[in-house]
Amino acid sequence: MSDPYWRASALCAQVDQGVFFPSPGGPRSAAKDICARCPVRDTCGQFALDHDIRDGTWGGLSVGERRGVSTVAEAVAARDARAARAAVRKARAA
Ligand code: SF4
Repeated sequence: MSDPYWRASALCAQVDQGVFFPSPGGPRSAAKDICARCPVRDTCGQFALDHDIRDGTWGGLSVGERRGVSTVAEAVAARDARAARAAVRKARAA
């Protein structure tokens, strides 16, 4: 796969790429923090979805967050819904 044009603006090009490809079950928060500040985040996430990339954090989305969706907006909505459900469960348990 050739380097897409938007990679020139990617924040991850300036840091250790291993952060974006942790071992299974490894931490993803460092990659997500970087992606949150990246100017090409949505383009990157959509690229991963369009090319069915099944490893690494792309556009701030983990492999699991990209599974079963075809757009970044769908992935973000699903992630937000899961977070909201978790917050409700936590509040009910308190
Ligand atoms: S969104 Fe994240 S993975 Fe994608 S280019 Fe930016 S820093 Fe890299």
